[in-house]
Amino acid sequence: MNVSFLGLGAIGAPMARHLAKPTFALTVWNRTAERARAFGAETGARVATSPADAARGAQVVITCLPTSREVESLLDGDSGLLAGLADDALLIDCTSGDPATSRRIAERLGQRGIAFMDAPVSGGVSGAVQGALTVMCGADDATMERARPVLEAFGKKIVRCGPVGAGHAVKAVNQALLGIHIWALSEGLVALSKAGVSASLALDVINASSGRSNVSQNLFTERVITRAFPRTFKLALLEKDVTIAAEFARENRVPAPLTQVAADLLRVARKALGEEADHVETVKLLEEWAACEVNG
Ligand code: NDP
Repeated sequence: MNVSFLGLGAIGAPMARHLAKPTFALTVWNRTAERARAFGAETGARVATSPADAARGAQVVITCLPTSREVESLLDGDSGLLAGLADDALLIDCTSGDPATSRRIAERLGQRGIAFMDAPVSGGVSGAVQGALTVMCGADDATMERARPVLEAFGKKIVRCGPVGAGHAVKAVNQALLGIHIWALSEGLVALSKAGVSASLALDVINASSGRSNVSQNLFTERVITRAFPRTFKLALLEKDVTIAAEFARENRVPAPLTQVAADLLRVARKALGEEADHVETVKLLEEWAACEVNG
């Protein structure tokens, strides 16, 4: 099967690496061409010169870009995806995008018979490296079955959540929970540290209690207590995700004050910490406000 992957970022590159296997003939494209060339040299994948070139001859094209806006912007023009996509091709968007834009893209592609599905992922860079991502799909049953052999290359739990847009909606709600947990645990651990209670001891207790989460069990233990703060998932992207969750609730006329506040707070954090900061570095803003670092 000819598969093309566009967007070799922090999560896209390890996902694409699983497709550089004999089962697939892999082509890659990346906006910064040097990254694609390095990936091609490492894996043997063909390096395309444009999105159109990547799409030409591919049965399945995968995108993994920051937002749905970038995906939509790759569609048009002589070098755009639509210029290269065959009428019977399938576009799988693994971006954590927004449901409304995905429905619009699906409609445009559908006019030519091209299938589209949203398939955002969760599990982080380590999950991508292990090929153990959760994949949340928005598609009809037939498209889902066409996509499954490709998704299985990097996904472990692959679930059809509903029609186009449903994958992005579930992902956004997941990300709202992630953002809220990070913010709430930051507040709690900074307060405990300021009061002289050991944060690592408190985490140990919380992780054996009802307030535990992936944030307390993994992220804070491995990144905050150690002060390692590896940059694997940008705070800017988390802010984008939680904003999508707030918009999704609003579109459905569901009051979601906590999600909206989380989106607003993460926007403040993004502004303060910059575009390259990792999502877990959010705690640094709370530390600054309290003039107290989370102790080890
Ligand atoms: P990165 O910022 O590391 O990479 C973004 C990718 O998109 C790069 O390949 C970049 O190209 C490309 N890109 C950016 N802007 C444009 C544009 N205007 N036109 C074409 N290409 C563009 O992001 P991630 O890989 O971390 O994230 C990608 C998606 O996956 C996001 O939606 C994110 O929310 C989601 N995600 C990320 C996870 C993670 O742990 N990192 C986990 C789960 C989901 P270039 O190299 O030129 O900058």
